[in-house]
Amino acid sequence: MKILVINAGSSSLKYQLIDMETEKVMAKGLCERIGIDGHLKHSPLVGDKPVFNEDIPLPTHAEAIAAVIEKLTSEEYGVVSSMKEIDAVGHRVVHGGEKFASSVLITDEVMAALEECTPFAPLHNPANITGINACREVMGDVPMVGVFDTAFHQTMPGKAFMYAVPYEYYENDGIRRYGFHGTSHRYVSGRCAELMGKPIEELKIVSCHMGNGSSIAAIDGGKCIDTSMGFTPLVGLPMGTRCGDLDAGVIQFIMNKYGIGIDEMLNILNKKSGVLGVSGVSSDFRDLDNAAAEGNERAQLALDMFHYWVAKVAGSYVAAMNGVDAIVFTAGVGENSKSSRAAIAEYFGYLGVTIDEEANSKRGEDVCISTPDSKVKVFVIPTNEELVIARDTRDIVCKK
Ligand code: AMP
Repeated sequence: MKILVINAGSSSLKYQLIDMETEKVMAKGLCERIGIDGHLKHSPLVGDKPVFNEDIPLPTHAEAIAAVIEKLTSEEYGVVSSMKEIDAVGHRVVHGGEKFASSVLITDEVMAALEECTPFAPLHNPANITGINACREVMGDVPMVGVFDTAFHQTMPGKAFMYAVPYEYYENDGIRRYGFHGTSHRYVSGRCAELMGKPIEELKIVSCHMGNGSSIAAIDGGKCIDTSMGFTPLVGLPMGTRCGDLDAGVIQFIMNKYGIGIDEMLNILNKKSGVLGVSGVSSDFRDLDNAAAEGNERAQLALDMFHYWVAKVAGSYVAAMNGVDAIVFTAGVGENSKSSRAAIAEYFGYLGVTIDEEANSKRGEDVCISTPDSKVKVFVIPTNEELVIARDTRDIVCKK
């Protein structure tokens, strides 16, 4: 069985074609500047076909999907002989609200329900919906599945997901914590249990997804019981450019003092804050590491804040779960920055965590970075959201 995984943004579309017999990626690529001019990079990963990397006109998402299918099946760049070999499509969808606690076969009713979730993710869901519609247009009745970033967090109890605002806002408007990066937290926690050789039902795991956007999840017995992102992905940890947790009074103060409107304020909090805002250097942790090494104090402060917040939130989840068996680092910073992992792990001394420096220097593989006598295991697990989407798609389509 071969499954095409699609992650559609407003002007981009990422894809992977996965062979489910081996779970290997057969081809992957990225359409960019859709609706502007258009660029496609397509990389076949089986055989010795060349990479296609050129500007091509991509006026709509449907034309982008058509270009992807053309490349996947072409003589020169293809990895399958025709579209018929693609058995199903799995779509990443950012927000499933309270309606979707798990992945779902896409039908007209599901599309209508997705539209209802759009106000919760006005930037992301419309792009995801456009991607699904484009695929349905180009691929006809190939079965499709939606996999939600929020779904894994739907197991959170009310005490964790409620905001302490008048209850009517929850009842009438769905104002609550939803959480994001659920597919990533689900993948790495499942993999962590496999690596520990124990059923996930018996484990308490703190999963730290640290990338451009960052969130932490408390996973008790395989179920998420708390997570740091909220109604939107703006809160929790300070991130590349997002502010993380912030006193709402600060927003009112800045808006009044500088006479700026809410849209501009949110733009500042989403795009000009986080470690970029504090350091004034960059949102990229590699740049911060370099600047800090050269003595830039604000870059060091931004790094210190990030590490402190990860440790603080992770610690609160150890309290929430009344213990922890494993801590997992994943995503761009979690997978690549040994200095960030080491700095965060320093805070975990009270848990009896000790880090093996040599293991912490490895990259690009699943690795236990704690010493054999560490009381809590610490892992680096490269995330693989596409594989989760492909597996869910296979499971749902095979049950149909
Ligand atoms: P992601 O959002 O998961 O793709 O993560 C992207 C972020 O990972 C980048 O913005 C960098 O800050 C970070 N990153 C990638 N490689 C490294 C590295 N070698 N050291 C530190 N940070 C890194």
